[in-house]
Amino acid sequence: MAALAFCPRDGTRLVQTRIDGRDRPTCPVCGFAEFMFVQIGANTIVERDGGVLLVRLNYGPRDGHWALPGGLVENDETIEEAARRETTEETGFTVALDGLLSTWMRPGFPILVVIYRAHIISGTLRVAPDEASEAAFFPKEKLPPLEELAWPSTAHGLDAWRAYEPPRP
Ligand SMILES: [Zn+2]
Repeated sequence: MAALAFCPRDGTRLVQTRIDGRDRPTCPVCGFAEFMFVQIGANTIVERDGGVLLVRLNYGPRDGHWALPGGLVENDETIEEAARRETTEETGFTVALDGLLSTWMRPGFPILVVIYRAHIISGTLRVAPDEASEAAFFPKEKLPPLEELAWPSTAHGLDAWRAYEPPRP
């Protein structure tokens, strides 16, 4: 990625400054310094009757593979809002979040995936036809095989779900 020339907060021309052992474009006005930029993916683990909700993608390089409901966070929303919005868009369910389950990131691959546990408040299952061909609930012992999962973060999220134990009262 090309280095930034101007501060994304206030537009000031950035100057090279050594921070944490690297020269980084830095804003002399507000102190912004360029570290890595990532996209943020917000996903949900929606559980019902012991099964987890997966959607089968029908576009792009992962066509036909199963993914957790979710998508990329926009500039004007929180990660939690994105998780709820994307889940509703992709599955028809309105959900409430029950807490952070896990995060996934890999060096050199600039996306941070944040995975929440969630439960259905209302709605009926209805996939977005331009994003998914179907959606279904899978019990822990009958998840799709690894090669049918869309992303490494999908496998990571399902592993975290299987390992999750609710806190004891
Ligand atoms: Zn600035």
